[in-house]
Formats: sequence, C-alpha cells, structure tokens
Amino acid sequence: MSTTYIVFDLEWNQSPDGKENSIEHFPFEIIEIGAVKLDERLQIISEYHQLVTPQVYTQLHYRITQVTHLRMRDLIDRGEYFPEAAESFFRWCGSGAIFCTWGSMDLVELQRNMDFHGMENPFRFPLCYYDVQKLYALQLGEGREKLSLDRVVEELGLKEERPFHRALDDAYYTAKVMQSLDFGTFQDYLSVDYYRLPQNADEEIRLEFPTYLKYVSREYPSRDAALADKNVTDMVCRECRRMLRKKFHWFASGPRQYLCLAVCPEHGYVRGKIRIRKREKTGDSVYVVKTMKLVDEAAAQEVFEKREEQRKKHKKRRQ
Ligand SMILES: [Zn+2]
Repeated sequence: MSTTYIVFDLEWNQSPDGKENSIEHFPFEIIEIGAVKLDERLQIISEYHQLVTPQVYTQLHYRITQVTHLRMRDLIDRGEYFPEAAESFFRWCGSGAIFCTWGSMDLVELQRNMDFHGMENPFRFPLCYYDVQKLYALQLGEGREKLSLDRVVEELGLKEERPFHRALDDAYYTAKVMQSLDFGTFQDYLSVDYYRLPQNADEEIRLEFPTYLKYVSREYPSRDAALADKNVTDMVCRECRRMLRKKFHWFASGPRQYLCLAVCPEHGYVRGKIRIRKREKTGDSVYVVKTMKLVDEAAAQEVFEKREEQRKKHKKRRQ
C-alpha cells in the first residue's frame, strides 16, 4: 500500500475574557479544520475544509477575529458541532495516513478537544508525525530557530492568491513547504506526540533516528521520582545497543535539563540529554524525553566543560 500524508491545520478560539473564565484543561476550542491529502510523491490529491460551531466559548476572542477573519455568524450558519466535524475529518483521512503539521500544537489540541467531547482517540500509539516546522529548521542546519509559517511562505516565495480559508490555506502552504524540502533526507525525522503518554514501563517509547536514540518515559509524580528510575538514567549505544558505562553521571545543565556522557568501547562517545516535561493534559505530573547521541571528541569536550561550569556555580552558591 502506498503512503498518504494528511497535512492539517486548526484554528481555535479561547475564552473572550481571559483565563478566569476559561474552563480548566480546555483552553482552546477548535473552530475550523483545514487539510490537504498528499500521495507518496507529496502531490496534493484532495482538500478538506470544515467550520466548527463552538459550544463552550460562544463569543470569539478579539484576536481570533483579527487573525482568522471568522465571524460567529459563519460558525453558527455553516459549522458543524465538533464531534460530527471530527468524525467527518477522520473519515476523509482514511486509515494508515501519516499526519503532518506546522509545530506540535495542532495534534495536541485536536486530541484535547476529542477528550473533552468524550470521543475515542483514533490515533495509533505512539503517534509519530511530521512536524514540518522542525523539518524546515533541520534543513536550514543545526541550531536554526523555528520560524513561523507566514515567514517561511514568504522566504520561499510560495504566496498565492487563494480564497480566504485560514486553516485550509495554512495546511496548503505547509504542504508546499513540505514539497520544497529534500524530503528523502528528512523523512526519518518523525516527531512523537506527547499528548498521550506511556501508561507503564512496557509502553515506554524507544525510537531510532539516523544519529540518535529517543526514549519517552511514563509519567512520574515528581522529577526526583523520574530520575530515580534506571530506565530514565540508563545510557545505550545507538549502533550496538550496548548498555554503556558513564564517564560521569547526569548533571543539571538547565532548569529542566540534564546531560551526561557515556562511552561505547566500539563506537565512542555518547551524549545523553534528559528533558523533564510537564504532562500536556493537566500539568500535574512529569515525564522524561531522553536522547542518546553519538558525538565526536569536540562535542564530548563541550559536555565536560558544561559540567565544570555547573560545578563552579554550585561551589560559589555554597560559599
Ligand atoms: Zn556501540
């Protein structure tokens, strides 16, 4: 079976009068779904557009009106309620497609809206997708910042006269950016959705990328509990899957980030990076994203120097 890609974009509304009147764990209500379907050669074969009638925040936030030019009247007259809209969207998607978005927020908000409406989550687990914003930054080179879609569309000269449907336009332009990429080089760099997390050790996510391994843990009540788990702190070589001896143990290199350096006797230095993240659904527990990357001598030296820096800072604080 050949691959199809669904590139989609959402517009959402929020409480018009700020956070106080926002419903807990439901900050954004989807009001528009736009998508294009691509074949395996990334050619557009179908488009989808649907307005959604809000049921929670029934007044548009002024900034949403500014950005989308949508009016509540249109959403009521031409929209469907979210459960019907989501169902028709997934019917149009078909099964087995790979999802693609600009950034990671759209998949999160789509799932959050489905949860809110008590709908079953239709995505497989783990949900791997293409974050086209990330792929574009990767193509520009290491350390390049993530740019807005508008800016990239301008940079690449992709702007066209199109009927004004914000979500569909953005999906269309995201697909255009995807077509401009050297996709063969970047198609290994799938992103993992963190909205649904592993529920136990068996479900923990381990993925292999061209230069590194990625691990996503289950949830823990605290950072200390996470760092006490061997699954979290173990270091493995990407090439041979050996359990590695550490040159030195994990140290804090940022507010929610830890580094370590290990050595594979056969393949050399492996840099470990742990990011502690708050759970997307409610934010009351944490999980860990760990990467283990083969690095050269110079990058290993950098980790060593960072550790020295941190130790000096620590000393100073104690004095
Ligand atoms: Zn190795």
